[in-house]
Amino acid sequence: MRTSTHAADRAEVELGAIHERLDVRLEDRRLKFTLYDLIEFEVDPSELARMVSALLSRIERRHVPASVDGTRVAASTDRRTLKEVLQQLISRLAGEAGTHAHTRRRLIYISESSGIPLIGHSAFGIIDRGTNVLQVRPITGCNLCCIYCSVDEGWVSRTRWRDFMVDPDYLLDWFREIADFKGEGVEAHIDGQGEPTLYPFLPDLVQGLKEHPNVDVVSMQTNAVPLDEDYVDELVEAGLDRFNVSINSLDPKKARAMAGSKDYDVRHVMRIAEYIAKETRADVLLAPLWLPGYNDEDIVEIIEFAVEIGAGERWPPLGIQNYLEYRFGRRPKFLRRVVPMKEFYRWLRELERKTGVRPLVLKPEHFGTEPRKSLPKPFRRGDRVQAEVVSEGRIRGEMIARASDRVIAVPDSAKKLSVGDVVELRITRDKHNIFVGELA
Ligand code: SF4
Repeated sequence: MRTSTHAADRAEVELGAIHERLDVRLEDRRLKFTLYDLIEFEVDPSELARMVSALLSRIERRHVPASVDGTRVAASTDRRTLKEVLQQLISRLAGEAGTHAHTRRRLIYISESSGIPLIGHSAFGIIDRGTNVLQVRPITGCNLCCIYCSVDEGWVSRTRWRDFMVDPDYLLDWFREIADFKGEGVEAHIDGQGEPTLYPFLPDLVQGLKEHPNVDVVSMQTNAVPLDEDYVDELVEAGLDRFNVSINSLDPKKARAMAGSKDYDVRHVMRIAEYIAKETRADVLLAPLWLPGYNDEDIVEIIEFAVEIGAGERWPPLGIQNYLEYRFGRRPKFLRRVVPMKEFYRWLRELERKTGVRPLVLKPEHFGTEPRKSLPKPFRRGDRVQAEVVSEGRIRGEMIARASDRVIAVPDSAKKLSVGDVVELRITRDKHNIFVGELA
């Protein structure tokens, strides 16, 4: 499809060649881009030609015609300039219009220039819960739709409205400052409202975390689906010490049902867990979630599997979790009751007796977790603060505001607030420096 302009002596660039992790195809007369297998956006070819021409004309101070033919862009300029302009445009389009390839939600990129602080929100940035463990959350959005998901993730989500991805340099800048404050013996734990291995800069992030002199351990939560042996090796090489792998049943059908995805392959997850345990210096901890009456026996099989592959060399081999109900989480329809934690621990102790594997009842000391001074809170629950609205929020209808180097989620405000507004908020939650506010 030839869409615009003319010119002799033109440079030509194949769009797919401007970034090693960019895929481009022409479909239904639209150019469809996928960056890092994660960020999707599309543009009309004639619109792209106009944007290229406008940018080149500004740089060269003359009218520079450009055209798009299939997935090739041509313009009357030299190849290097054309390539640079296309790189700029692709970054801009990804930032302004990118959606998460797995969830189809708008993906908001948080970098230093966004001015969005990385403390204060539970979905992205860094969470300090008053111990030597710092939770590092680089990305939201998941490739699965587990029927019990506490954060209602995946493409079936009804509550989540936007996804976020944090620039790795920006995240590491914040991390360094907080790790300095926390002192020696820090564990950097990569987790989040979604699947961390979808983060395209994960090896760089792991390496940056591990390089901090106060960091002893880098660990990560994962469903292991996006991992293969090479990716595991890369992460271990970068400094990852422990993979906490979610796995709920060894029965492929039941595992698929719990993952809420017909493509979920538990055999792959088992193979990856075994590979980590046997072939790398990293440790693997298997983390099944117990749905009482549904996967009880499956958990016994998972315990046996953990022993068989040699999981838990340095830390416990299993981190069995109880199902808990969350306001914005999912609850399986068949689940009759939520088991109180006391009963859950009783069940774990029975499992310890039955299988001979312990500890299954986990304590902070099993992970070297100890209390540490928390970051100061610039404001408290009940305070009134003046804040600037900086972004749309994570949950449908939420906006995010900024004050004193913290972000504050403002639920149900998207119809009233726009980015750039300065508003007065009353803080309604401040626990662990995670702030929620309402219009005062
Ligand atoms: S893998 Fe985790 S984040 Fe993803 S849907 Fe399942 S429980 Fe939720």
